[in-house]
Amino acid sequence: MDLGQVAKRLLRNRTLDGECWIWTGALDTHGYGHVKIDGRLRLVHRLAYEIWIGEAELVHHACERRTCFNPTHLLAVTRREHVRLHRWPDGRCSRSHDITLPENLKARKNGTVVCRLCANQRDREYLARKRTR
Ligand SMILES: [Zn+2]
Ligand SMILES: [Zn+2]
Ligand SMILES: [Zn+2]
Repeated sequence: MDLGQVAKRLLRNRTLDGECWIWTGALDTHGYGHVKIDGRLRLVHRLAYEIWIGEAELVHHACERRTCFNPTHLLAVTRREHVRLHRWPDGRCSRSHDITLPENLKARKNGTVVCRLCANQRDREYLARKRTR
């Protein structure tokens, strides 16, 4: 992949809206821009991050616009941090546990991230139900 060529391609499909670089090309079913590079479909914002900044595990839109690919609006985050940003943007889970503390987040084997305190609570409730049966 020639990053310079890809950069040019991305910029040809760009319209400016404030500071956002809005992708005008094809979108995937989630509303993210995508583009075919070397026969592979790639997400435009991930590609933009790779071209102008570097490798990232995951890329999050600080401006919350899925079609924006301004690299300065893109944040490299870990999977855990990303879940936190989307599911619990105020830093509290649905039972108000503080999930900004890393020890309160737990990754399941299937990759989903859950609140550890809630998970423990659910386990205890489950065991309690089992005992009374
Ligand atoms: Zn933006
Ligand atoms: Zn995100
Ligand atoms: Zn919780």
